Amino acid sequence: MTLKESQKVRTRFAPSPTGPLHIGGLRTALYAYLYAKRHQGDFLLRIEDTDQNRLVEGSYEIIVESLKWCGINLDESPENPGKFGPYIQSQRKEIYQKEIQKLLENGSAYYAFDSEEEIQAFRERTKSENNGFSLPYNFQTRNTMKNSLTMSDREVAEAIKTLPYVIRLKIDAHNDVSFYDEIRGEMHFDAAQLDDRVLMKSDGMPTYHFANVVDDHLMEITHVIRGEEWLNSTAHHILLYKAFGWEPPVFAHLPLILKPEGQGKLSKRDAEAAGFPIYCVAWQNPSTLEISDGYREKGFLPEAFINFMALLGWNDGTETEIMNLETLIKRFSLDRVHKSGAKFNYEKALWFNQQYILNLPDEKLLEELEGHLDKNRCIITSENLIHYVRTYKPRIQFISEISSIGDYLLYPIEKMDLETFGKKWSPDFLSYIQEFTALIQNTAFELLEEANKALINSHQLKMGQIMPILRLLLSGTTQGPSIYEQIQILGAKNAIQRLNEIPKI
Ligand code: GLU
Repeated sequence: MTLKESQKVRTRFAPSPTGPLHIGGLRTALYAYLYAKRHQGDFLLRIEDTDQNRLVEGSYEIIVESLKWCGINLDESPENPGKFGPYIQSQRKEIYQKEIQKLLENGSAYYAFDSEEEIQAFRERTKSENNGFSLPYNFQTRNTMKNSLTMSDREVAEAIKTLPYVIRLKIDAHNDVSFYDEIRGEMHFDAAQLDDRVLMKSDGMPTYHFANVVDDHLMEITHVIRGEEWLNSTAHHILLYKAFGWEPPVFAHLPLILKPEGQGKLSKRDAEAAGFPIYCVAWQNPSTLEISDGYREKGFLPEAFINFMALLGWNDGTETEIMNLETLIKRFSLDRVHKSGAKFNYEKALWFNQQYILNLPDEKLLEELEGHLDKNRCIITSENLIHYVRTYKPRIQFISEISSIGDYLLYPIEKMDLETFGKKWSPDFLSYIQEFTALIQNTAFELLEEANKALINSHQLKMGQIMPILRLLLSGTTQGPSIYEQIQILGAKNAIQRLNEIPKI
């Protein structure tokens, strides 16, 4: 497709409501959204629910909720229709009925009346004639079947009234099927290998192929951006555009998201086994009642999640990794989408979350902390909570961790590592500790580290001897932030009290 100057870029996300939004679908939606916004275009949501047997209750709502959480705005959708509605395919039946007439009239489609048994018998017959492979219903075999190409007009008119029927696309072996894919380049298909795909089912519903092409055309979609699994279907779509005499949109088929080891497509089972979510937001399967975690519930910031997902198969050509939605929109281009699959890397997702947490204002984390704080047990003053937040901010992967990561400073120590204390302790330290507490009392916090070093020297102690003891007394553990940071958080009074409580061993 060659876009006219004045033509507005329009992309769509067209999920089937067969479950919640998984990360593969989200990435497709995100790229289509970024592309539209990059070109000041529109991005819309269309629900492809023509296969009524596969519908899963609640999927639509969760898809919309997921996109919203991610900050992907919809210019048009079932809830916010533009002039191209309805945006749910099952509500567009009349449109498809009208459009299919055009193909029947121009000879690009035909009625087929074969019953299921006849189709089955056809498969068996061609299987035995063809080394165990049944032949497709196509330009060679359709002449042996019960359809409007082999029946008289009178028979057809009668059959339409009395028999169930489907409508098929008439593909001739010499049809040229080629298109340019923005990611994969020139694509060619051999029409002789394609079957006369069903366009309208016997229940009067269109198939995915037919509805998808009709809607993309009528909704003036300029760029079809979708997963690689639809690449082969595009051959039929191209033929449909030709049959209608419509210009096809630009196609871009996105590479798969691969398992972390890089072998094969990432599945829900792989994600579960490795312990990371596959869905954007949590979901309860209505039939099994199984609950699956989502990135939202896990504690990911939507901005971090989107940034991570954008880089799963694309980069801006530089080393830059941290890009918010606005920057992604400015930099996104289809020509930098990778051809090969993108290995999923959960560690990287965590890294992005950490980076975004580091960029949050301290007040945001303070709010989170205060929301979960057990105020009756908390021993540190409200003024010192900000020191706690600043100290632990670089140490958390999820915001929610802020209220528990340093609980030994917020609340009375519950677990003292007595074993290590017993190994490291010597009564010779007592006089030093006494002087150190006096130092805390009388020294400005900024000068405490230097002053303490001098004090340790004057007692002829080694850092390695005394530091673990100070840590244990202050927090019950040898891990965590430096003793100075801990003292600042605790405040002089609490710190001195803890240093004076030497466990009996
Ligand atoms: N309904 C298809 C799906 O569920 C849409 C494929 C396309 O974007 O054309 O993925």
